[in-house]
Amino acid sequence: MSDESVRVRYAPSPTGYPHIGNIRTALFNWLFARHAGGKFIVRIEDTDQSRKVDGALESILNSLRWIRVDWDEGPEVGGDYGPYFQSERRDLYQKYAQQLLEGGHAYKCYCSAERLDRMRAEMAERKESMRSYDRHCRELNERERVELEAGGTSPVIRFKMPLAGQTTFNDLIRGDITFDNNELDDLVLLKSDGYPTYHLANIVDDRFMKITHVMRADEWLSSTPRHVLLYRAFDWEPPLFAHLPMILGPDKSKLSKRHGAASLIEYRDMGYLPEAMMNYLALLGWALDDKTEIFSQEELIRHFSIRRISKTAAIFNKDKLDWMNGVYIRNVVIEAPAAKVDSEAYTPVITTDLIQQLMEFLDKHLPHEVNRPISREYVEQIWPLIRERITTLREVADNFDFFFIDELVYETDLLLDKKLTTDTVVTALKAALQSLTDLSADWDRIGRDAEKLAEDAQLLEEVLRPLAAGLGLKAGELFKLLRVAVTGSTAAPPLFQTMAALGRVRCMKRIRAALGKLELV
Ligand code: GLU
Repeated sequence: MSDESVRVRYAPSPTGYPHIGNIRTALFNWLFARHAGGKFIVRIEDTDQSRKVDGALESILNSLRWIRVDWDEGPEVGGDYGPYFQSERRDLYQKYAQQLLEGGHAYKCYCSAERLDRMRAEMAERKESMRSYDRHCRELNERERVELEAGGTSPVIRFKMPLAGQTTFNDLIRGDITFDNNELDDLVLLKSDGYPTYHLANIVDDRFMKITHVMRADEWLSSTPRHVLLYRAFDWEPPLFAHLPMILGPDKSKLSKRHGAASLIEYRDMGYLPEAMMNYLALLGWALDDKTEIFSQEELIRHFSIRRISKTAAIFNKDKLDWMNGVYIRNVVIEAPAAKVDSEAYTPVITTDLIQQLMEFLDKHLPHEVNRPISREYVEQIWPLIRERITTLREVADNFDFFFIDELVYETDLLLDKKLTTDTVVTALKAALQSLTDLSADWDRIGRDAEKLAEDAQLLEEVLRPLAAGLGLKAGELFKLLRVAVTGSTAAPPLFQTMAALGRVRCMKRIRAALGKLELV
């Protein structure tokens, strides 16, 4: 479906670092706009100055940029579009608050914070249903108003909610929803500092930005009847509404850090791929069918529709995210980044330079003693050995640092198999060292292609495998020893390929170091 008139927005408040749910809202709006060929807008709702959090704005924009959710318009900043900021549009809201006042849909309220506190405490005591305001100033007469003004109190402007009746609106996901008007407060539209509240600014902007569909989190559902009544008071046509299902933890409780949920930027910093993250977020409350899990960005745009958004809460499952990231890591195309992976099961398309991303992680997280810059060629060589064994890019620096560091640190016990004597282990390592010394010196680590590496690995195997029999060892026993000596760990990628990538000099040095450790036993 193409509908260029579609205009949607993501309207975050900079009151914290955006988490999975926030960015899922942005993504659904963006997918909807891209699918229709319409426009996606980012609007920063920063009118509550007291709740602003340092760094939140940057984190919002960086999260969007990271998963490549781009926006289509906004004030120009350095040749690019910035988002809209509500704090820069205050005159507009004041004008429309005034209009409601003049039309008799709003009134000035002079109640002090102390009076409001007292009123709420009394209501609680009487166990009355909690209202934020008792409409004290709604029916002030002219004389009372003049007196209060003369007393110097700066008023707020409140909306005159209808006192009876019901408000019904249609939600594209849930159908018709009805609220009793007497449950709705006379909400504040304009605060005494001249800043609008969320409700006023939100609908004025949606109107002036010609928003056609408001797609937002479920938690805003109770604001919608208020907004619908505001639209009526202005005599404006409201947009269409769609409230997105909640995201819960696997135990069905509210999603929190306990479930492994974090701010989106933390996932970037852990080494999740933006493509995998977009894919994962898209499935939090939306599905094409009951089986397809892996979608490229193009496929998501092609298939996305509000009709397929679920009514029931989505479950955040960190294991599934890890699995999905692994799928992307294993299927990424390195040589031809724009090409599609030809595999029956998965077709992720990665257009970014994954090796470059990995290099950045390595640069940041490998120990200081590793020489910089890290060789890209080397990283490309070891990538095939690693990619099957990681869930995130960060793990390369954490678990495969033996490819980079000079001296391995590990317990000598790792070399000592219960079934083998120390002498046998020493003899075996010496024999391996001798074989490597005898090997032609033409294998070394940098600057060789994958084919040469495979040849080296084969050569090493041909030389080292037969040693076992002569030493009275099973091949597996010898290989385990060598694996510990050259990687410092018993779990490592295929031994000979690893050794080929590490290079002769480094392997020999490490075997010597292992022998040195054993001398101390
Ligand atoms: N500023 C609100 C938020 O932080 C926007 C809600 C809406 O989209 O209307 O989520």
